[in-house]
Amino acid sequence: MRRVLRRDNFLSRAIRSDFAPPRRRPVARFGALTVVSLAVAALAASWLTIRAAPPASADDASDAAAADAAAAALAAATKDYERKLGTTLRVASRGHFVVRGDMDQPDMENLAETARAAFDDYVATMGCDPDDVIKPAKKGDTPWVEVFQFKSEKGYTDFLDKVFSRIRDETVDDRRLALMRRQRGMFVLTPRPIVAQYQGPSEISTVRSQVVHKTSHVLLLLHRKAGAWMPWWLLEGLAVRQELSVLKESRTYCLEVDRPGDYFKPGTPEADEAAKARLELSWRKRAKAMVDGSSHRDLPVLAKLTLNELVLDDVIQSWSIVDWMLRDGKLPAFVTAYKKEREFAAACETALGGPPSAVEAKWRASVAGGK
Ligand SMILES: [Zn+2]
Repeated sequence: MRRVLRRDNFLSRAIRSDFAPPRRRPVARFGALTVVSLAVAALAASWLTIRAAPPASADDASDAAAADAAAAALAAATKDYERKLGTTLRVASRGHFVVRGDMDQPDMENLAETARAAFDDYVATMGCDPDDVIKPAKKGDTPWVEVFQFKSEKGYTDFLDKVFSRIRDETVDDRRLALMRRQRGMFVLTPRPIVAQYQGPSEISTVRSQVVHKTSHVLLLLHRKAGAWMPWWLLEGLAVRQELSVLKESRTYCLEVDRPGDYFKPGTPEADEAAKARLELSWRKRAKAMVDGSSHRDLPVLAKLTLNELVLDDVIQSWSIVDWMLRDGKLPAFVTAYKKEREFAAACETALGGPPSAVEAKWRASVAGGK
């Protein structure tokens, strides 16, 4: 399995840097994991045919066989989804991520690349082994995070009604499914990691941001599995941190407007202000103003808030704490302790060297000092 993962990562790098030719794999291998829709099946067929270079070693042969099996499994899964949906799907894959949907192919490729970038950023942030984040369900499986991306709300709700409703497990009852139908997107970890969303009238940069944000949630929950548990402040704080890191701006989707139609239209003064508000500098200023004015929440209170209770200021504070822990080199240890202890105070003692009150004082001092 390790060989397959290593190969996936290699393929990701090869695909990402179009200008840098693969060092030892023939370019034709590129086609083995890039499964495309029926609409461009001929192209896929030609790619698959080119991959005829003889393997250099038994190890390479085994890698090639595993990649072929992964490509065949992806193609079969796509066919099954298409049958259920009654329509064809475009597909793009990078690393552990496969994006299916009805966006134009360049956008599909862009979103797959964005998901892969979020994964790389997560691994770099946590300083962890990629295999600790995404593991195969059983030996020999290729682990995928499946992203379903549609242009319209109808595409998304059709996916929920015709596909997801048939594969959901006991974690999604009828009420939760109905809630998902009213939202702009959803993610689940079981029966397998799935992200689904639609673009509506939003710009593509908004969609990319949503992909990074939801991917961050999925990865934090998958990493050293702790059931479905992870407090919302940390999920949101890390997701914003990842958006800022990967895309250099944040759009805080889980909290702001309910419908894509409510987003600011580009080219208006409001849009300019909204654009500025998304940048890291602005987040840093707002966190400092909050600390200077003592309007932030006590950390044990923040730690217990549900998603519905979090307001934008809470997300700014959560991001600021994540940012501080990361710059202090403590975020990975804190996440590990939090997942193990499942209790904020205990994780503070274990990873940050003191009770929440002492941690809060250190964080405030750092933010007040302009960091
Ligand atoms: Zn979120």
